[in-house]
Amino acid sequence: MNKIQGFYYVKCEDNVYECKLRGILKRKESKDNCVVGDIVEISEDSSIINIYERKNLVERPLVANIDYLVIQFAGKDPDIDYERLNILLLRSFFYKIKPIVIINKIDLLNNEELDEIRERLDFLKKLDIKYFLISQKKNIGIDELKLFLKDNTTAFGGPSGVGKSSIINLLQNEKKLETGETSKRLRRGKHTTKDTNLLELVGGGYIIDTPGFSSVELPDIKDAQELIALFPEFENRGTCKFNNCLHLNEPSCGIKNAVDSGDINKERYEFYKKVYDKLKYERWNRYE
Ligand code: GDP
Ligand code: ZN
Repeated sequence: MNKIQGFYYVKCEDNVYECKLRGILKRKESKDNCVVGDIVEISEDSSIINIYERKNLVERPLVANIDYLVIQFAGKDPDIDYERLNILLLRSFFYKIKPIVIINKIDLLNNEELDEIRERLDFLKKLDIKYFLISQKKNIGIDELKLFLKDNTTAFGGPSGVGKSSIINLLQNEKKLETGETSKRLRRGKHTTKDTNLLELVGGGYIIDTPGFSSVELPDIKDAQELIALFPEFENRGTCKFNNCLHLNEPSCGIKNAVDSGDINKERYEFYKKVYDKLKYERWNRYE
């Protein structure tokens, strides 16, 4: 991690303090001792003396305590890639970051096309994931989005050409935070390095502007049960005959029944099967 010659920059209220990490917090060979986004306590003599428990930690880029991952697509130009949307959702659950979905460029759509998108995104409601249909160009839905992201730390992911930079530019302050500046918290602070930009929002909050969150690589899921846990809609789905049911070809499967009855979105289930196959053949079975 680039710590800028061993210094950390912590923002408390309106000041930025150049700090050292207290020795006891240093674990040898560990690059995640103290990372961008950490909420820390500092002493009078500018030592980081405590790092608060993280709600999440991403490795590439190395950053902690992200409130939301915005998964952004365009309604058209380019069309929504629903499989990619599902991969980004999976990654967001894996890293314990709450996702929200933005569909930009709705100025290019007619009502019919809008309705079709609403229908295909309907499964998000059941997962308690908010989605925004917006147009950066026509300023539709932007205020609501701003209000929602206020005071939060948000990362952006999605394919290129969907208007991520346009939205980020619109949301952020004129002033781009320089390396080392960080957040405003009384006696606590966040710090940054050159690796990751935290951009300050006009009304409060931060945007993380790094391409890492657009990655469509499947995360390091160790086994089928871990994969199943990344599908929130599979929770509490009544009874499968087998305790360790993989919801594939087993008889009396509660998940398959829920798919048949329309309780679980079919496209999501098909996506589950596809990821299962991919992980099984490309990773889990490799050393058997
Ligand atoms: P990024 O690659 O995701 O960062 O996308 P950009 O922000 O570079 O935008 C890609 C293109 O989409 C640019 O030509 C923008 O002008 C255009 N664009 C962005 N937002 C909108 C929008 O709401 N409506 C329309 N029609 N075009 C947009
Ligand atoms: Zn089952």
